Parts: sequence; C-alpha cells; structure tokens
Amino acid sequence: MSWLTDAHIHLSDSEFKPEWQFILVAMDKMRIKACCVSMDYQSSNATLELGTKSPLVLPFLGIHPEKAGNEELEPVLDLIMKNSNKISGIGEIGLDRTYVSDENGFNRQVDVFEKMLSLAEKLKKPVSIHSRKTLEEIFSILPSYHIDGVLLHWFAGNKKQLQKAMDLGCYVSYGPAMVYSQDKQILLTQTEPSKILLETDGPVKFSKCFGYKTTQITFLPSVLFCASQILGKRYDETLEAIEKNMNSYLGV
Ligand SMILES: [Zn+2]
Repeated sequence: MSWLTDAHIHLSDSEFKPEWQFILVAMDKMRIKACCVSMDYQSSNATLELGTKSPLVLPFLGIHPEKAGNEELEPVLDLIMKNSNKISGIGEIGLDRTYVSDENGFNRQVDVFEKMLSLAEKLKKPVSIHSRKTLEEIFSILPSYHIDGVLLHWFAGNKKQLQKAMDLGCYVSYGPAMVYSQDKQILLTQTEPSKILLETDGPVKFSKCFGYKTTQITFLPSVLFCASQILGKRYDETLEAIEKNMNSYLGV
C-alpha cells in the first residue's frame, strides 16, 4: 500500500508541539509521512527532535526568508552539516520581499538563500523553496546550482512561470487552497504529471471550506482527493503517482 507524503509542513511549530504524540499516531494510522520544514535555528532543532520520535518525519532544516535578516547563518549551516545523515532535505529557504524594507534586506535574503543552495548541492539534498512573488529572481539563481530535487512549494506563479519551472526540472506543490481556488486547479492540470507534489503548509490557516482552522496534516487526503478529481483519475491511482514523484524528489 502506498504512503502519502506532505511535501511541506511545519510540524516543529509551537502550535503543533503539544500535540506531537497524537499527530504521529494519526500519521501512522492514515499512512502519511511528512517533509517537516524549519524556519530558523530553534525550529531546526525542534524538527530534529521530532525526527527522533518517528521515521514518518522527514526533517528539512534551513532559514526561512522571514528569518534571514535576524538569524545567524553559521549555526544553521553547522547544524545541517552535523546532522546531514539524519535529514532528508534543506528548507524552508527562499526569497520574499514582503519581509524586508529595503534592498539591503533583500540582498541578505539572497545571500542566505545562495549559501543554503550551495550546501544542498554539496550534500546532495533536495530543497523546499518559498517563492512568493520572487519566482523570476529564483529562476535566475537556480541554474547556477546542481540540485536534483527542487520544490517550489505553494506554487503561485502564472502559466508562463509554471512552464519555466518545468523547463528547469522543478517540482511544484499544491495545497488546501487548490480545493477552492480555480486558478490553482487550472495550474495543476498544466503541470507536468511527474512534477506534482501535495502539501498542507500547516499550521497556515486557509479560508473558504477550511474556515481558518489550523491546518492539520490530516487535511492532506482531501487535497489528494481534489487533485484526483481535477486530473480525472482514481484516488488510488493519483496516490501512487504522487508517491512516485515524492520518491524522485527525495532521491530515494
Ligand atoms: Zn512553509
């Protein structure tokens, strides 16, 4: 039987921590694994701690663009290197101008992002990238690195940018917003089938049918059901295809 893997979730978030034991039981019963991304040094350590509790947790360590300005780079790079045999990837990393007030702040994000990409290339690990309104900048940086598994999580570009992502061999992931957003549904149908991954990005809250509830990993089968309907495939057929994509993304 196949396993469904959340391509991007923040299980190290303090909102989830008191419920870790229940979340891990639910994941086991529902046959769900998780690429658990980190934001900074503190959450990278929490992700590693969670990783010791269950093999269903696939730890990703990194510095999120929101934290790039105030987070020290070296301790996180060190942590990644020291734990390279325990982690499945590097993330959440990326660029986002909404977190900076000037060009210096953005340049700092670029510097942190490039250092993380170099390390991913060196350690041969996949990356989970935050690309809100910065796809063009990211597309210009990526070709300098040789990384097999590049995920543009919560893909929110236009059709042309989706094509560019496919040309660069990137994976893209869709989450709960796809259940109610027609734009995302159209993008899904135009995505190379072997590059589709699914995510929740919990604990981020979603509107419409999700009613701004804290997003749980248990929402993931709904995202898969929706994707299978849009793609006109059976649920189990889509599950198998996504599992195959996930294994290639992780390089396992
Ligand atoms: Zn995220």
